[in-house]
Amino acid sequence: MDNIEVAEVATDSRKKLDESLFVPLEGENFDGHDYMKDAFDRGASAALWDKKKGLPDFLPADFPVFFVEDTLAAMQELAKAYREKVNPVVIAITGSNGKTTTKDITASVVGASFKTHYTQGNLNNQIGVPLTILSMPPDTEVLVAEMGMNHFGEIETLTKIARPDYAVITNIGESHIEYLGSREGIAEAKLEIIEGITKNGYLLIDGDEPLLRHIHLRDGVITCGFEDHNDVAITNITISQQSTQFELSDDDSYTIPLLGSHHALNASFAVTIGGLLNIATKTVKQALTELELTSMRFELMNGKNGSFIINDAYNASPTSMKASINAVKHLEGFRQKVLVLGDVFELGKNSKQLHRTVADSIDESMTAVLTFGKDADEISSAVFKQTPAIDCRHFTSKETLLDALNAYITKDTLVLFKASRGMQFESFVKQVIDPSQ
Ligand code: ADP
Repeated sequence: MDNIEVAEVATDSRKKLDESLFVPLEGENFDGHDYMKDAFDRGASAALWDKKKGLPDFLPADFPVFFVEDTLAAMQELAKAYREKVNPVVIAITGSNGKTTTKDITASVVGASFKTHYTQGNLNNQIGVPLTILSMPPDTEVLVAEMGMNHFGEIETLTKIARPDYAVITNIGESHIEYLGSREGIAEAKLEIIEGITKNGYLLIDGDEPLLRHIHLRDGVITCGFEDHNDVAITNITISQQSTQFELSDDDSYTIPLLGSHHALNASFAVTIGGLLNIATKTVKQALTELELTSMRFELMNGKNGSFIINDAYNASPTSMKASINAVKHLEGFRQKVLVLGDVFELGKNSKQLHRTVADSIDESMTAVLTFGKDADEISSAVFKQTPAIDCRHFTSKETLLDALNAYITKDTLVLFKASRGMQFESFVKQVIDPSQ
C-alpha cells in the first residue's frame, strides 16, 4: 500500500472528515463501526477497524483500512507515538476539582511564550486525551492536557500515553468516591499520574492535602498551598468583586480575574510551571490578567434589580461547593448573600452525609440557603440546626424555589448557584440575570 497522509484523527462520523482517519469506537449504546457509511460520505480517507467485525460492502477495495484488536487501544497507541514524534513539553493536569481552570490558566501562561496546544471542552478521558494529543499541530512546543477519571487505572493509561514533563494534582476531593471507595482511594488513583512522568519531570501537588504528603519522587515534587511548609506558599490573599490577588514565595504579587482562594492555588501551579519554563514574571502576570475561561465556572454576572449572580452550575462536589461558598464569604460590599444549592451526584452510599458537610462552610454571613434536589435538603437542614438565623428552605419544585428566590433579587444581593451539571441550575440563572447583558 502507498503511504497515506491524514490530517486528522476523528471518532465522530457526524463531523466533516476530509483527510481524516476515522476511528470507530464501541460504546454502551452505539458502535462507531455502524457509522462507517457516514464517515466515508463525509470524506474520511482511512479507517481503523475491529478485526472481529466484517467490513461493509460499500467500501471501495482500495479504501485503506487498518485492522486492529481494539480500536480505542489502537488510537491510544497512535497518540502515544505522535506525542513522541512531535515531542513538546507536556503538562498534564488532574485532580478532583480545578482541572479545567488550572488547564486554562496554565495554557494562558505558557501560551504567552510558546506555541501551545491544550484540551478543548471536556476532552479529558480515555478517548478525549488521545484526541487532544492527535489534534496537536506538528510544531506544538507545549501541550497542556487535562486528565479526568472515574476508576482506578484510567490516569495510569493516560499518563503513559502523554508522558508529562510536569504533572499537577490540583486537589483531592470526593468526586467519584462511588467508584474509588474513599478519599485515600481517590488520592491513590490520582497518584497514578507519576507512572508516566518523564525522567527529569516534576510533580506539582496540593501540599495542604495530607493524603499527598508521603510522595517522594526524587527531587521532583513541588508542593503548592496555603500552609507555610509548602515550596510555593500562597499568602496575603485579597478577593474583590472582580479579582483575587495573592503573593507567592517569590514575594511577587499576582492578580487573576477569578474569585476565591482556591483559584489562587490553581494559579500557583501555572505560575510555578511558567517559572520552570523560564517565562519572565512580567509575562506571567500579564497572561494571568488575560485569562479566557470555559464558562459557567464561577461567573459573576449582573442580575435583575441591581443584584449580582454567580453562575457556578457547571459541576460540583462537596469540596468545590465549600470552596465556592468560602469565596462568596470573602466578597465584600453586599447587603444579602443567598446560596442556591442543589444535589452533588455520584457520591455513593455516603451521599447524604457528604452533603451535610457542606454546612460546615456556611455561617451567619449568609442570608439564605435555598436547596433543591434529592439530597440537598441535608445541607439546608444542617445549616438550620447550627445557625437558625439563616433562612434555610428546601424545595421540591424549581418554580417554588424561584418564587422564594425572586423575593431576594434586589439591589446589593449576591446569589450563588451551585450544583452538579445534571441539576440544570442554569435554568435558574436564565430567570434572574439582567436581560440587557
Ligand atoms: P474540574 O475541571 O476539575 O471539574 P473546574 O476547574 O471546572 O474543575 O472547577 C469546577 C469547580 O470546582 C469550580 O467552579 C470551583 O467551585 C471548584 N474548584 C476549582 N478549583 C478548586 C480547587 N483547587 N479546590 C477546590 N475547589 C475548586
